Amino acid sequence: MASVDYNKIVIKEKSFYKPDLNEVAEVLSRGLKNNFETVSVSAVDCPDLRQEPFNLTSPGLCGDETLIELGGTQYLLPLVQRDKLYDLALLAKHLRRDPAYIIGAGAGPWPAFNVNCEGVINLTVRNGTVEQGSRAVTVQPVGAAKGHSGYLQRPLPAHETRAALLGNFLLSQGKPGKVIKVVAKTRTGDSNFITSIRETLQNHYGDKVVGLGGTFVVHEGRLKHHVMPDFSSTPLCSELDVENWLHFFEMRAPVVHVGTLVTGDLDLDLRVQHFHGSSTHGDGGHYHGDTTPSTAHYEGYFAVASTVLRVDPPLEKHTFGRD
Ligand SMILES: [Zn+2]
Repeated sequence: MASVDYNKIVIKEKSFYKPDLNEVAEVLSRGLKNNFETVSVSAVDCPDLRQEPFNLTSPGLCGDETLIELGGTQYLLPLVQRDKLYDLALLAKHLRRDPAYIIGAGAGPWPAFNVNCEGVINLTVRNGTVEQGSRAVTVQPVGAAKGHSGYLQRPLPAHETRAALLGNFLLSQGKPGKVIKVVAKTRTGDSNFITSIRETLQNHYGDKVVGLGGTFVVHEGRLKHHVMPDFSSTPLCSELDVENWLHFFEMRAPVVHVGTLVTGDLDLDLRVQHFHGSSTHGDGGHYHGDTTPSTAHYEGYFAVASTVLRVDPPLEKHTFGRD
């Protein structure tokens, strides 16, 4: 099935408020203490993220930092629109971005394994050549009932540069440069790591909308993730329908996550946060939080984006299926 033609769909662009990185670090240092016992945040030179434990395809997160939101839950719910396939390498080309480094969370390309999947997107295009580090996670065995299923994480084939339906990505040049480093240990509040960052920034910056993209590793403890099973043949019409459809698992650290968060909507119907994780031991999926607050240990690196590109926005608004 052909992927969407970027010349025939809507792409909207808006600017974020981009605060100074040192100020963001100060704001987060204070705010994250509402949810974590030990907090350390600073503006640092990005470490080489190609190294363990991150294993990403570019060394840094910097260079023309842009968030991309593709499609939306409206293309998944109540029933799937299978033609919503987005070739990310072609998108970079369409945007005239090379080098282009794209990381984040989205629906994986269902044709890759002929089943719906979580996409953990991590690919670099340099001089027209794709370095593919993306992975997909599927419910295993396909068709297993909830409570009787496992999951399978595997690399996406090198040529498979598509995502499907919906996605939240950071697009940059993948260069070294200044980023926000966040270390948080021992969770004492109810908000997960990303929600805590997002709410802290939202409380401080108010109507000035800030967007972050990047990566975080959970070094210790266990995590709550979901993995989407294959597309539902019956319509999913509410949050409860979606909850009952998704398969939830407890994942084992270390897990490396990629994705984005925003503190406001900008009238673009933006998803507030979305991170997917993968690991070398096979665990991975859509991040909901940790299940072991006393041993929680997070280390993240985030770029502050200048703009957001809203690609192929659905016409109708949805309020469910976005957790
Ligand atoms: Zn997801």
